[in-house]
Amino acid sequence: MYCSTRLSLFLFTAAVSALPSCTISPAEEKPDSPCICDSQTYLTGAVLFTQESAEYKALCLQAYNAAAARLPELSAKSERPAVVLDLDETVLDNSPYSAWQVLNGKPYSPETWVRWVQEASAEEVPGAGGFLHFADSLGLRIFYISNRDTSQLPPTMTNMEKLGLPQLRQENFLLKTETSDKTERRNAVRAEGYDIVMLIGDNLGDHSGRYDKPATSAERSQSAFEDAEKFGAEYIVLPNTIYGTWEGTLYNYDRSISDAERCRLRREHLAAPEL
Ligand SMILES: [Mg+2]
Repeated sequence: MYCSTRLSLFLFTAAVSALPSCTISPAEEKPDSPCICDSQTYLTGAVLFTQESAEYKALCLQAYNAAAARLPELSAKSERPAVVLDLDETVLDNSPYSAWQVLNGKPYSPETWVRWVQEASAEEVPGAGGFLHFADSLGLRIFYISNRDTSQLPPTMTNMEKLGLPQLRQENFLLKTETSDKTERRNAVRAEGYDIVMLIGDNLGDHSGRYDKPATSAERSQSAFEDAEKFGAEYIVLPNTIYGTWEGTLYNYDRSISDAERCRLRREHLAAPEL
């Protein structure tokens, strides 16, 4: 569910430019320079894009607008339509936890993550609440399939109650028990007789298991092109610059490697011209 540090190239560049002590000269740059490559710097840009940019809000609103536009048509085809949403970075904005990591120089840890979850103070991802109430008004069943641990259900529901979100019944939540792969939980929804007409998430594993480990970056990208017609229809995708399976592919899903090795692998995957 929640991994540590993530960022795309353009945000990486933005983070570098935001740090006055980091003077980047290609001629002087060292491959393992902590100034330009450490995970906290990497995370800083990702969080700033989420918290400060109007573009992040616009992307979220765009996703939920598309979802609302297609939902009546998709749900009309079924007698028992359901919509499935992920929670973290789909309904709940956890960027304050990542900001805390940066400001305190801490990596992600299950202990501090649980403290954040227990605060039950996450704001909603832009557009999520409006969409959820719209789906509720259409009579759809809403399932929240999240890789938050089952022990985190009470504070998660408290947080969502504060936000006034609909269908906050325990049976509407399918949290993580053993595996992060959500395929079985989606199948459990279908086994209850529901037709899942729309899947909404920030990580493509929220939509299909083909995007999960051990899929490589190239395989995931190939799958995205094969699924092209589903995006903006039954597959709705939210932006997440902070973390995701995509970053795990860079490290061959090996969480045990050092920060320096992560840095090396990030750089190794950059595609750049010779100038
Ligand atoms: Mg998520």
